[in-house]
Formats: sequence, C-alpha cells, structure tokens
Amino acid sequence: MDVEGIRRVVARAGDASADLIRFLYVDHGGVVRGKSTSRASLEQRMATGIGLTVAMQAMNMLDELQSVEGMGPVGEVRIVPDPDTYVDLPYAPGAAAMLSDLVRLDGEPWEACPRSFLKEAVASAAAEGIALCAAFEPEFLLARRETDADGERRLIPIDESLCFSSTGFAMAHDFAVDFVRALEAQGMVVELYHPELGHGQQELSIHHGPALTAADRQVWYRETARSVAWRHGLWASLAPKPLAEQAGNGAHCHFSAWEVGPDGGPGERNRFFDAGDRYGLSELAYHFIGGILAHLPALVALTCGSVNSYRRLQPQHWSSAFVCYGDDNREAALRIPSPMWGHAEASANLELKPCDSTGNPYLALGGLIHAGLDGMRRRLDPGDPVNVDPATLSERERRRRGVARLPNSLDAALDELERDDVLMEALGPLRRSAYLAVKRSEAVSFGAHDAAYECFEHALRF
Ligand code: GLU
Ligand code: MG
Repeated sequence: MDVEGIRRVVARAGDASADLIRFLYVDHGGVVRGKSTSRASLEQRMATGIGLTVAMQAMNMLDELQSVEGMGPVGEVRIVPDPDTYVDLPYAPGAAAMLSDLVRLDGEPWEACPRSFLKEAVASAAAEGIALCAAFEPEFLLARRETDADGERRLIPIDESLCFSSTGFAMAHDFAVDFVRALEAQGMVVELYHPELGHGQQELSIHHGPALTAADRQVWYRETARSVAWRHGLWASLAPKPLAEQAGNGAHCHFSAWEVGPDGGPGERNRFFDAGDRYGLSELAYHFIGGILAHLPALVALTCGSVNSYRRLQPQHWSSAFVCYGDDNREAALRIPSPMWGHAEASANLELKPCDSTGNPYLALGGLIHAGLDGMRRRLDPGDPVNVDPATLSERERRRRGVARLPNSLDAALDELERDDVLMEALGPLRRSAYLAVKRSEAVSFGAHDAAYECFEHALRF
C-alpha cells in the first residue's frame, strides 16, 4: 500500500475542499465509468478500494450485459485508485478524481484490468530495453443537441466554418479557452489548437509522456472536452463519426521508443532515431513498424474499438484505410512525421492513424507495444514506404507491394484479432473472451439499426 501517496491525496482533497472523489476506470466498451467516495471515507477507500461486480467488464456500451465465464453475478474486484493520477476537476467544482486499477480480492491485478494490461506491456518493453513515449491527438465535434418536433435527436455543429479558418476560431473561442485552462489545471501541456475540416470540428493536441501517462491523459482529455462543453450548454463528441456526412474524428497515436532511464521510464536517448537514415529512423524503428504493420488488421480491433470506428476508416479521408507506412503520408496507416527543425532526435516518432477515442486507451497502447515488440524480436522488415496515396494504386500494384485494405467493420477486425496469436496471448484468456463478447454484441446491436442511430448513440457516450 502506498501510504505516502494516500496521505498526499487526502491532503490535496482537503486543500481543494473536494467533497466527492471519483475512482474512474475504462471498461471493455471503451466507456469511462467509476464510483466516488466522500472526503470522510477517502483515506480508508484508497486503502481498501471500492467494490465492483466482476460483471461490469462484460457490459457493452449500451449497458447490455454479456454472458462471459468468470463475469457473472457472483464475485467482486476492487477499484483501486493510483494516487499519482489525482486531479481536482476544474469542470466539476467540489469534485476530484483518480484513475484506477481493477484489483482482485487477494490484492493481485485482475486479469481483466485494462490499466494493468498496459503496465504489463510497458514491463515487456523495458525487458527489451525500450520505454515508450506517446500522445493521443484527438479530434472532436462541438455541437448543440436538439430534438425536433417528431422526436428525432440531432447534434447541430456550432459552425459551418472552413478548415483552419479564423471564423472557426471565433465561433469556438469561449469553449476553447476554458478547455485549454482546464487541461492545464490538470497538469497537461497543451501544444496546438485549431478548428478542423468538419463543421464544428476541433483539434487540440497535448504533450507526450510515458505510455501509461499518455493513456491516463487520453481519459482526462475525453472527460474534460465533454464536461467543459456541457458547462457551455454544448456537446463535445470524440466519436469517430458523430455525423455520418462530416469529417471523422481520429485520435492519432504518436509514439517513440526511448532507452530505459534510471527510474524505469523513458531516458535520454530516442531509440527510434538515427541521423544517418533518410527519414531519421533507426533499424529498431523499422522493425517496430514491421511489427505494427504485421498485426495492424487485428490491432485495429483495439485502437478502433467501436462499430462507428469503421465508418471513419475510408480511403481518401486522411484517416487511413490501408496497411502501409509512408513519409508524411496522411493516407498511410503509419506516418513518419517529418522532423522538427533543430529537434530531429527529440521529434523522431511515428503516428498511427487508425486510432480513435472509442478505443480503450490502455488496451490500444498495450496492443501497439506488443505488436511493435514482436516486430523487434523477429527483426521484421516493413519493406519500402508508400509515398503516394495508396487508393490511387491499382489493386494489382497494392497486392505487389503488400498493401492490404484495413478491416472494414468491427466484426472483420475482431475476426483478425481472434486469428492473431501474439495479441490474443498478450490479452490472456479472461480479458480476450470478455473483450470479444462485448464487442461482438455491439456489432449485433448496431447491426439492427440505421446509421443515424449508430452515430448518435456513439456521440452520446464518446
Ligand atoms: N480527421 C482525420 C481523421 O479522421 C484526420 C485529419 C488530419 O488531421 O490529418 O483521422
Ligand atoms: Mg487533424
């Protein structure tokens, strides 16, 4: 037990007069859930955790409980918060929150805890001499929610502004400034903000960090975007396609692999960097790319975790639809971003485009690490980069270059995941059976409805 951490958190909650402290986790449906404790019970609850029925990891994003062995009505785990993640919630005065692990009654990590999955992946990477840094780069829709006379629910974008246009800045200004301040108050460093292509679409990026921190920040980001919007009477939706006819929302994942520093986290040297290479990438980085490409059709079942995800992954929408990598190629699933002037080593990284905010960030990043490590261990060669739009190549040429189409539905991605021994092994029996059951059930449920229902229901939750 982290006695010092508990003491720190209790003191901070007292200083901030936080009367409710949320213990949050992300479920297999990708939904952020949790329970909260009063300040009076905080110290005890930090030590004992808060009880959670094991069935919650068999719940899908429509609150339809699936039948999964080991996740029935009998049995409990504990939601145990990580004191290092404590934040006072700027958008919920009087409340604070922490991100949590799901822990068995004997104190061991539960085999269906997503955050523990990422911690295990980080440990496997450390054993290979690398520590990942990452940042998710979410896009989202800012909209008003309306119900028309015949009960039809709609999201109306706050503007019809053009890509990067000054009108877009003006229309979203009050929200954008509050959003930046709220993220910074929680310790995140904001990098860039702009109105994106779609009507009402926003993009704001935050600074990268060690893998676990990056996944934690993705949770805080999602919570903050939506909550700040609500306080402005608006809805922020990070769903991949909240509006079927508008540009999709990615949450591209930027990542790099560093030597392991003395504290076990990323050290000084970027192991993806090689000044002598035409793209500034090391041999290790190419093997990592090879691993990600080899597992990508299965990996997207984790990084693009919803039915709605596959509405976004279309050719020529800058979201990527093909398994390839390329130099600053925004149609390639893995983009090698050009280096920043004067910061070549610090900025050497890769960007995974088939990634969105419906994926559980812990499973997504953990899966990405396992895929990359497999490439390193097997010294996989990713072949030549594709430096044209892959959609403009003939079928034959794509086949010759080994450029396959990404799965075009959640079910197709889950089929790939089931065939992928490396990812299935990494997930382990309980987690993979629960994840597959939950995600298969979402495919069935949304299969019985039209696109408008699917888009709206995802927009409500993500
Ligand atoms: N909105 C695009 C996507 O769905 C990304 C556009 C861009 O920032 O390149 O991923
Ligand atoms: Mg963008």
